[in-house]
Amino acid sequence: MDIKLASLKDYSSLRIGGEGKLVEATTPAEFKEAIMHAKTEGLRVHILGEGTNSYFGEDLTDFLFIKLPKGGMEFREEGDDVYVKVGANVMWDDLVQVCVTRGLWGIENLSSIPGTVGAAPVQNIGAYGVELAEVFVSLDALDLITMEMVTLTREACQFGYRDSLFKYQKGRYVIVCITLKLSTLPTPVLTYKPLDALQATKPSLVQIREAVIAVRTKKLPNYHEHPNAGSFFKNPIVDLETSEMLKEKFPEMSFIQTLQGFKIPAAWLVEHIAQMKGVKQGNVGTWPHQPLVIVNYGNTTADELDAFAGEIRRKIGERTGIVLEQEVNRIG
Ligand SMILES: Cc1cc2nc3c(=O)[nH]c(=O)nc-3n(C[C@H](O)[C@H](O)[C@H](O)COP(=O)(O)OP(=O)(O)OC[C@H]3O[C@@H](n4cnc5c(N)ncnc54)[C@H](O)[C@@H]3O)c2cc1C
Repeated sequence: MDIKLASLKDYSSLRIGGEGKLVEATTPAEFKEAIMHAKTEGLRVHILGEGTNSYFGEDLTDFLFIKLPKGGMEFREEGDDVYVKVGANVMWDDLVQVCVTRGLWGIENLSSIPGTVGAAPVQNIGAYGVELAEVFVSLDALDLITMEMVTLTREACQFGYRDSLFKYQKGRYVIVCITLKLSTLPTPVLTYKPLDALQATKPSLVQIREAVIAVRTKKLPNYHEHPNAGSFFKNPIVDLETSEMLKEKFPEMSFIQTLQGFKIPAAWLVEHIAQMKGVKQGNVGTWPHQPLVIVNYGNTTADELDAFAGEIRRKIGERTGIVLEQEVNRIG
């Protein structure tokens, strides 16, 4: 096992972070060795995915960063259902592409979401009316407290909107593989804009995937050119009473009714309440075409980013009483 000192900037799509100890495990044995090393040295284990939902502080001396060995995909048919078991270190969109090619329905709306399969349950990735939880069966993980392998079902993972058990038991589980249940029967979800425009055409899986990729490419900045981590804040959800009070005060504010309550587009709040769409301060700013995306325009630090995000949160909080919750993880 090789432990090297690496710049964590290279493991963050926001390109923010200091140096830390890194093991890139190539086999399960190396992975176990890295975990044992962290235990003996009293280091905190942090599993690195692609870093598309993460940025790092400057002092990372307490951590051992571990990249998992590459995993594979297994398919098992049961009538019209197909169970797919996938290794954590597979790229999420590679999985979507393979499933679309095989004619399997269920995750096509989640096309082009960057990152790894292992990180997908952590925030219950979602887009265009579909969330991972809807097709999720279970995952296998190493519990770092008991050092046993466990299987966690969908119920045990406690999925919510961009939420799961793994946000509350941070660092406890290393997700090794996940199992999804997809279908050979067409089950298109075309309720969200702009996919609703396809409703009349009975689109194929490939057409839905291509439509999603086209709209995402247009809307979101390429993080290789403009470092970012997608939506920085979650869309807040308020109860009926709060939504009515807000509607009276801000008639332009829109609300989407969900099972949990009334969801308010955070991008609208950043633009119209904080008035920070396209605003740049020092090395950091919001993307002019999608203000929910914060971009590292230079050599920014985690603290500078937090100060900028804090200003957005404060302005929105002062005018609306809404407390914006951060979607992106700061480590260290
Ligand atoms: C341009 C852009 C667009 C995006 N669009 C969307 C979107 O539409 N919908 C959406 O939901 N998200 C979106 N995201 C966010 C991001 O793609 C997802 O959160 C993705 O799941 C992160 O994967 P990752 O491998 O990069 O995770 P990382 O950032 O590497 O890790 C995220 C967290 O998961 C933990 N983790 C990673 N792997 C494991 C594992 N094997 N076991 C235990 N913990 C683990 C990490 O420790 C960390 O806490 C977008 C990001 C970008 C940059």
